[in-house]
Amino acid sequence: MISPRPTLYRDAALADPTGPSLRKGVSLLADAGRVVWIRSSTDEGDLPPGVYVTDAGGSTIVPGMVDAHSHVTLPGGSHWIDRGADPPEELLEVAEHNGNLLGRAGVRWARDVGSPLAVDPRDGRRRALALRVRERWRSDVSRPRIRVAGTWIGHSGVLTGGLAIEADDGPALLKAASTQLDDGADFLKLYLDGPKKEEAPWSTEDVRAVVELAHGRGAKVTAHSGFLVGARVGIDAGVDSLEHGFELDSDAVATMARQGTFLVSTLAIFRSWASFAQTTTLPRFVSDEGKERIGRRRERAIESVHLAYRAGVRIATGTDFGGGSLRANHLAWEVEALVEAGLKPWEALASATVRGGDLLGETTAGRIVEGGPADFFLVHGDPLTDPTALWRVWRVAWLP
Ligand SMILES: [Zn+2]
Repeated sequence: MISPRPTLYRDAALADPTGPSLRKGVSLLADAGRVVWIRSSTDEGDLPPGVYVTDAGGSTIVPGMVDAHSHVTLPGGSHWIDRGADPPEELLEVAEHNGNLLGRAGVRWARDVGSPLAVDPRDGRRRALALRVRERWRSDVSRPRIRVAGTWIGHSGVLTGGLAIEADDGPALLKAASTQLDDGADFLKLYLDGPKKEEAPWSTEDVRAVVELAHGRGAKVTAHSGFLVGARVGIDAGVDSLEHGFELDSDAVATMARQGTFLVSTLAIFRSWASFAQTTTLPRFVSDEGKERIGRRRERAIESVHLAYRAGVRIATGTDFGGGSLRANHLAWEVEALVEAGLKPWEALASATVRGGDLLGETTAGRIVEGGPADFFLVHGDPLTDPTALWRVWRVAWLP
């Protein structure tokens, strides 16, 4: 809800993630959902009539975050895969709950990288459920702003539960891509892990044809990448971004940096799974063998993100909530994980804000500028030096 009165946030610190230092003693005037001005608290000048003054002393203004890898129709948790088969009406309710969680955690934008197909009662056609959520939320400023990939496009034998559109060769892949765009997807999500771990599901030429099709229609292509062989195909085919990138090498990241391919990190998945060793009875998390396997993949994934960072790859970041085990209000966990992978805290916050906006092609997302949207939230602590400050949300400007 946008306050009907101009609101002044007085004497806060401002976290601009283009550098390591807070700007202190800041007053920010917001009105009608826009930032009117940002001034020194000792020199505010004239205030508009009827202004509502909020004493923001001791808090820090942070740009609304971008969860660049999310699944808004799914709830997450240790049974996250099973939940994909829940009835569509329940998943739509889950999406509303997630919308609340995202906002309260300071997440303004969510990039949905896959939702289950469901029959749309309005025309009887099966299409990705998140497209309906996008329509519901479009006119409600208190809801996250979202971009939707439609559903997953994968090779048969990879994604279980009938979640993905399956395509086993080039023509089928192209047709699946075209159908997704016809349905209204903002971008495409390819699943570049194949049925055999050591083989990519499609050839570079097949994927390049999809990239050309999508770009020709003004849409981008992203690719799930758990293994190096699929990552190579995606990079060589010119996809716009890789999701996860759990197994990259120095060649791969050098090419990504040169081409401008984004990496969307989701390292907190492994933190979440490690926590399940304490909180669940599921053998894959609890057994020695399971813990060992998760630990190994985690180390490799951290190394990949570190390599990408050192090579200058643009890194946006996401929780993978819903399509993974995190919950919709856990993006701070991923910012912490990026710091573990070598990013400075302010760079990690940039990944969760401006870089996400760059990935979406939304020039105002993740930024606070005079005249821009009043999409910011306030925390206690300094997120430019300590990512855990992001858990301590006090207030969210676009929410009551
Ligand atoms: Zn995912």
